Amino acid sequence: MVSLGSRSISKIRAGTVALNICLGRARIFAEAKIFLVGENRAVRRKTRLDRTRKREKMFTLIHQDKNSKARLGKVTTAHGEFDTPAFMTVGTHATVKGLMFKDIEQAGAQIILANAYHLFLRPGIEIIKKAGGLHKFMSWNKPILTDSGGYQVFSLALYRKISDQGVEFQSHIDGSKHFLTPEDVIKIQETLGSDIMMPLDECVHYPCAKEESRAAMERTIAWAKRSKDAKQDTGSFLFGIVQGATYEDLRSDCAKRLVDMDFDGYSIGGVSVGESSNLIYNIIELVTGLLPLDKPRYAMGIGYPFDILEAVERGVDMFDCVIPTRYGRNGTAFTNYGKIIIRNAAYTEDFRPLDAKCGCYTCQNFSRAYLRHLFNAKEMLGLVLLSLHNVYFFLDLTRQIRQAIQEDKFSQFKQIFLMNYNHQTCA
Ligand SMILES: [Zn+2]
Repeated sequence: MVSLGSRSISKIRAGTVALNICLGRARIFAEAKIFLVGENRAVRRKTRLDRTRKREKMFTLIHQDKNSKARLGKVTTAHGEFDTPAFMTVGTHATVKGLMFKDIEQAGAQIILANAYHLFLRPGIEIIKKAGGLHKFMSWNKPILTDSGGYQVFSLALYRKISDQGVEFQSHIDGSKHFLTPEDVIKIQETLGSDIMMPLDECVHYPCAKEESRAAMERTIAWAKRSKDAKQDTGSFLFGIVQGATYEDLRSDCAKRLVDMDFDGYSIGGVSVGESSNLIYNIIELVTGLLPLDKPRYAMGIGYPFDILEAVERGVDMFDCVIPTRYGRNGTAFTNYGKIIIRNAAYTEDFRPLDAKCGCYTCQNFSRAYLRHLFNAKEMLGLVLLSLHNVYFFLDLTRQIRQAIQEDKFSQFKQIFLMNYNHQTCA
């Protein structure tokens, strides 16, 4: 840094100038950008204001269904917008299994979910940093939400030890040992360039004793606070995760305390881990009732079409699930008339598409008989075409949900959809 006398400062204008600096005997010629102190502060203030405005606009509530808590909204991130209710296609390892990003985009995907735990272990954050961030690395220029990997540490790691400081674990890939604090997990996601980050949280199994659930919830809240304090002003958003297992008082306490901390949005974690559907819906109803209307709500890991509908009805805006591609790889297709198990002999000479109502590439071009043949011949195209159809089906479901909310017809839409879906005429 070169300081100049106050007289010369008054004559200088911001811009690029040639500097001729004497340092002892050496004479250094350099070109430098000059910012006047006042202007520099003004620029910083403007940047802060711009970011604040961006944050304020993160979620726009466009319309609330007149007959339910279903909401139509829009989330704005540094990499563009997505409409809510949104189904986020899962790309755990920076790829949606078996599918090209151009095809996913064409199917209507506006946001993808990746997993910080998996990317931290493989290929490693430094490699993604060198590539210029996760968007460039995977060549996806739309919003990315990253899960912290808290759930994966608990479900996949060969060994784990949790303390208030963080979590020590052994990689499920190569057995290597790691220790991550909530601050590390934020740093990892910021390095990835995530648009929406999740803090490290403690998940519990189902069923779980109340005192154990309470301790995990308290730790989740403490870690959420540390994550918020560690977050830099990079333009990424940070959600708070509501835990508390199936205990209403714990969930309610957790939601209220996280709302007091003022996160950009709120996730409902630890649902769909083995408990009954009614328990899931009750917890979702309780929690959404405590969350602010002007922030997005995300039910993590949900789910099946009927779960999505029930959660939307209770005011949830965002969903993710591995179901479309996992089922696609296993030969199961979701349709408006229930699930189809494509290997079934019933489809040997069935030349209809998977779903006559579906506009996806698979349904526009291929028959059930052909898809069955691909699966029986163990051809990889079969997995690709069924995965593509399933992804399209879930994206189209949320598109139809949004349309129904816009027209205040969500309840009718849900009733008709479930009547057809549960009828299972295709399975
Ligand atoms: Zn289709």
